[in-house]
Amino acid sequence: MGTGDGNLPHIVIVGGGFGGLAAARSLRHLNVRITLVDRKNHHLFQPLLYQVATAMLMPGQIAAPIRQVLKNDRHTTVLLGEVSGVDAAAHTLTVETPEREPLHLHYDFLVLATGVQHSYFGHDEFEQYAPGMKTMADATKVRNKVLSAFEAAEHETDPALRSALLTFVLVGGGPTGVEMAGAIAELARMSMKSDFRRIDPQDTKILLVEASPRVLGGFDPSLSEKVTQRLTHMGVQVLTGHPVEQIDDSGVTVGGEHIASRTVIWTAGVTPSPVARWLGCPADRAGRVKVRYDLSVPGAPEIFVIGDVANYEQEGKPLPGVAQVAMQMGAHVARVMEARLMNDAPPPPFHYVNKGNMAVVGRNYAILERGNLKLTGYVAWLAWSLIHVLFLALPNLRVSVFLQWVWSYFTEQRGSRLIVEPEISSSPAETVRSAS
Ligand SMILES: Cc1cc2nc3c(=O)[nH]c(=O)nc-3n(C[C@H](O)[C@H](O)[C@H](O)COP(=O)(O)OP(=O)(O)OC[C@H]3O[C@@H](n4cnc5c(N)ncnc54)[C@H](O)[C@@H]3O)c2cc1C
Repeated sequence: MGTGDGNLPHIVIVGGGFGGLAAARSLRHLNVRITLVDRKNHHLFQPLLYQVATAMLMPGQIAAPIRQVLKNDRHTTVLLGEVSGVDAAAHTLTVETPEREPLHLHYDFLVLATGVQHSYFGHDEFEQYAPGMKTMADATKVRNKVLSAFEAAEHETDPALRSALLTFVLVGGGPTGVEMAGAIAELARMSMKSDFRRIDPQDTKILLVEASPRVLGGFDPSLSEKVTQRLTHMGVQVLTGHPVEQIDDSGVTVGGEHIASRTVIWTAGVTPSPVARWLGCPADRAGRVKVRYDLSVPGAPEIFVIGDVANYEQEGKPLPGVAQVAMQMGAHVARVMEARLMNDAPPPPFHYVNKGNMAVVGRNYAILERGNLKLTGYVAWLAWSLIHVLFLALPNLRVSVFLQWVWSYFTEQRGSRLIVEPEISSSPAETVRSAS
């Protein structure tokens, strides 16, 4: 496929997420042809997905059209399509595009930054009852499910069914589960407290279930403890040390006990996209590609794998699947490619600089860990808010999210309490009835 300037080296980047966009932006000053392929037309700011799922923000506030983000990068072409394979020997990849024959793109360098998708740890049957949260469609589905449960509870006369409708279970106590639990508690007890006539949203039960002994396993244990206390104070029941044994349309079974719930949300596990299979290269047990010191693939120095789909060990441990890692990897592979194109000395091996990890639990409370520095409470929450606004991909999104948050802070109201696809005929109450 031609993209103009046919004699220039062609760099193909697959994935317009945190890693792929960072690579594209870092390459913009080079005299090369860049093609960025993504199956979605937008870059999604996943750290704020839970705010869409809990009606704080509108979908359009956390997603930026990739074309718009890269519109000033004259050497970069954006291609909407899904990559289905790579022929490393022929230096080509196959891109499925809507209503066309597959395209075969030739590359001089290839950057694979296709991220992960949720995984049900071999229990795919859970998915129909417990949606995960990875895409905008997922978050909108969760929002519909949460808001529909309150609507159904309002006209439910059976106390047991009403209780199941007002019980929300989050499976997985990582940052997303913790953030969702806090946000649902505030939605019910603050934003909707006066909106219903027959139910009292204060009666909402929220359970956060985590298989390991503590929530937020990636943080220092003292911070996990503080977050557990905070959630408990907000009315969230934190159940640790118990894996979920069963999920069906009547609820979940945890530690042998059945919890009746109409709304179960999966915030537990992820699995990498099939890059290792495309390349036939070494991968870890999860399927992440084991990359070399310069983030290239063993035996294919012109192919780089970055972000959540890469396994890069630093200090004896693989780096975590977080946005910072993906962005720093994207910038690093750009430096490696530039050095090779310019016949310069290669940069030193990739080294991740951890600028701090954060999680938020409702308004006014977050945790921040950076080396030995551990912050909790209001100051951490301000830092969290500032950083999340600044890292949105476009200025209009930053302004829009900032204004929304200020308005919500003072009014305790949400930005988007819409059920977009109401399915009256299969309402949650009817499903609960048929399940009981
Ligand atoms: C709900 C949630 C909350 C999170 N919260 C935080 C947080 O608070 N802080 C933090 O640091 N990290 C957080 N993360 C993790 C962070 O979002 C990821 O680490 C980061 O997005 C990884 O970047 P990436 O570029 O590897 O992949 P992604 O950002 O996921 O981008 C992958 C891109 O590849 C595209 N793609 C995938 N397969 C194909 C294909 N076959 N063909 C074409 N395109 C394809 C996708 O459409 C997507 O645009 C969160 C993740 C989730 C899901």
